[in-house]
Amino acid sequence: MVKCYLTRVKKVFLIIIIIAMTIPGYSQDLPAFDKINTSAGIVEMHFIGHGSLMFKVNSFVIYFDPVRSSGSYDNFPKADLILVTHEHSDHLDVKLIDDLKKQGTMLLCNEISASKVPWAKAMKAGDMQEINNINIEAVAAYNIVNERAPGQPFHPKGAGLGYILTVRNKRFYIAGDTENTPEMKALRNINVAFLPMNLPYTMTPEMVADAARAFKPEILYPYHFGDTNTDEIIKLLKDTNITVRIRNLK
Ligand code: ZN
Ligand code: ZN
Repeated sequence: MVKCYLTRVKKVFLIIIIIAMTIPGYSQDLPAFDKINTSAGIVEMHFIGHGSLMFKVNSFVIYFDPVRSSGSYDNFPKADLILVTHEHSDHLDVKLIDDLKKQGTMLLCNEISASKVPWAKAMKAGDMQEINNINIEAVAAYNIVNERAPGQPFHPKGAGLGYILTVRNKRFYIAGDTENTPEMKALRNINVAFLPMNLPYTMTPEMVADAARAFKPEILYPYHFGDTNTDEIIKLLKDTNITVRIRNLK
C-alpha cells in the first residue's frame, strides 16, 4: 500500500516536471533563434555564437561574420549574402566563406577583408547597397579608449564596419567590434541592435548601456561578450523601455 502510494507520488512529480519543461522560459536552454515580424515577412535571427549570426529574411540567407570557431555550421544553408565586419580571425574565416558560397552568393566587407577574398565587394562607412530589397548601410566601428599599445587601438577608425539592415519597416544594427562611438550614438530608428560587450577589445556593460540609452533600440542583444557578466547590462537598462535579450553569443 505504502509502496503503491510512493509510486503514485513519483508519477505525479514526473508529470509536473514534464509539464514545467514544456513551459517557455522554464528550460535553461536559450533559444537558438528569434523571429521578428516585418512588413516584408519574418526575419529569423540565428545565434551561432560570439560575433557570428545568420538571418533568414523569408528564404534569403544572410551570414554575419561566419567563423567556424564560433559554432557549428553543419545544419545551416549556403549563403545568399555574407557580411564581414573586419578581418580579425573571430570575424573573417576565408575557408568557411568558401564552404558557404554558392552560385550568386555576394560578400560585402571592409577593405582589408576584401583584399583576402577576390570576389568580395568592399564597403566604407556610409556606403549603402540594396540587395534583394534589403538596404545595407555600413557604419564605422572602432575603439576610442581600448588600445593594444599606446596610440594603437584594437580597432582603428576607418578599418572595421558595422551594418544596418533595413528590411522594409524594421532596422537591424549589427555593430561589429566597436565602442560607443558618436556615430553609433547618433543612430535613430533601430528596432534590433547587436552590440559587442567584452574587454579589452570592445565595450564594458556601462559603455553598451551608454550607447543603448542614446539610440534607444527596441531590442538589444549583447553579443561577442566572452566572459562578461550579462546580468550587468540587464541591471543597467532596467529603467528603460529597451528589452535586453541574452542568447548564446559568448
Ligand atoms: Zn576585432
Ligand atoms: Zn571580435
